[in-house]
Amino acid sequence: MSVHVRRDADFQPELRKNLVTREWVVIARGRGKRPSDFAVPTGEQEPVPEHDSKCPFCTGNEKNTPPEVFAVRDGGGANSGGWTVRVVPNKFAALRREGSDQVRQVGLHTARDGHGAHEVIIESPAHNLDLWEMTEGQVESVIEACQQRFLAYESGEILHYVLVFRNHGARAGTSLEHPHSQLIAAPVMPRQLQVEMQGAAAYWEYLGKCVYCALIEDELRSGERIVLETRHFIGVTAFAGRYPFETWILPKRRAIRFAAMSEEEAADLARVLKDTLGRLAGCLNRPSYNYAIHTAPAAEHNVRAYHWHMEIFPRITTLGGFELGSDIYINVVAPEEAAVFLREAKAPVG
Ligand SMILES: [Zn+2]
Ligand SMILES: [Zn+2]
Ligand SMILES: [Zn+2]
Repeated sequence: MSVHVRRDADFQPELRKNLVTREWVVIARGRGKRPSDFAVPTGEQEPVPEHDSKCPFCTGNEKNTPPEVFAVRDGGGANSGGWTVRVVPNKFAALRREGSDQVRQVGLHTARDGHGAHEVIIESPAHNLDLWEMTEGQVESVIEACQQRFLAYESGEILHYVLVFRNHGARAGTSLEHPHSQLIAAPVMPRQLQVEMQGAAAYWEYLGKCVYCALIEDELRSGERIVLETRHFIGVTAFAGRYPFETWILPKRRAIRFAAMSEEEAADLARVLKDTLGRLAGCLNRPSYNYAIHTAPAAEHNVRAYHWHMEIFPRITTLGGFELGSDIYINVVAPEEAAVFLREAKAPVG
């Protein structure tokens, strides 16, 4: 199941349950290893130039993307230079504006048009920077762009669900190296969010409080999995993380939607995100990773028991038949061990 990491033969594995979704994972590795045991071998990443004349996301090539839908600019008109962050429709969209909302039967099956939206958030004019290498101000602009796009969908047409996610590196499924995130708006609710929202609602019903708030309190009390803490956020390795070094960023103030963050919170999130990704890059030698922003869907008006958050998945292992066949993940690094490494880690220099 793993490319870079081998399991210990003498370690007693542990099954752990995700507090919110109640999904089980196997933690199959103990303590006593160094980050270099998990890190991406040096030489796997090629050096990347600062500007690539063939890249559609680089400055000067604005005409090679569909017209922008949002930009943070110091100057220049729409679809010209002078931007710091630029949001454009994805040319190779997974879901499109066109199409109808009708559900249809195909024999026994159900189908509908792939109606929705797919956007690219171009995070920097520079071709070769990962998010943690950008200035805090730049990361703040990226977060502002995400908030604005969530708001655009929350106030506009009813698409059931909006996900902002980031793929970085070949193992995380990126096709273009220029720094970018993506947004997909879909007319259906994904299972993952449904399970989280149901778990949060059930916890609220039985215990009268938010499961994520309870988790934050518990993590701060034990400190075992805390990676960092700021005024408004905590970064914590997930107790039942599916991926080695899986790290969650949670706002201390309960809000069901990401877009509801204040300016001060957004600035703090920029610091936390930059810091966390920098630590992962330092610890694991710039691994491929994905992250996702989990926020309550705009079309749901009666959500009470939710708490938006970000989940970061370093991709240092490969999924195998057990994961695909059972949906139970094998995580080869104990989250407590990962937290120790990440607390000590610093972003790479140069
Ligand atoms: Zn580029
Ligand atoms: Zn909460
Ligand atoms: Zn989540």
